[in-house]
Amino acid sequence: MVPGGRVHLAMDPKINKPDSEWQKELTPEQFQVTRKKGTESPFTGEYWDCHDRGVYRCVCCGSELFSSETKFDSGTGWPSFYAPVHKEKVKAETDSSHGMQRDEVICNHCGAHLGHVFPDGPKPTNLRYCINSAALKLEKKS
Ligand code: FE
Repeated sequence: MVPGGRVHLAMDPKINKPDSEWQKELTPEQFQVTRKKGTESPFTGEYWDCHDRGVYRCVCCGSELFSSETKFDSGTGWPSFYAPVHKEKVKAETDSSHGMQRDEVICNHCGAHLGHVFPDGPKPTNLRYCINSAALKLEKKS
């Protein structure tokens, strides 16, 4: 640590980019899901049936969000996890759209919409993080 310097607890400053910037970096579907709170059709995404080992990063900012170790087959057609890599990697916000009361899951680093979390998951958390493939990028590990 630099004498008199500050200890940085976060990995780096939070990202706050305008949509016009995100649009240049993402595919139309990635942009629609992550920046416009869209939902990909079930059983169409890249990862709902993926069983490879690795870490799922935010497609927008690269933050590590979920591990293949907490991924489970939910039968929903979306990649599902019972926990994030670390609690502080994601945050949940109440989402009252589409006539439903749901908890939206957001990347805590860049604000990307990831999906929703439901209280009907498996042990040990009993949570089901229902995440869009389009919001994720798998970094495979052997
Ligand atoms: Fe992110």
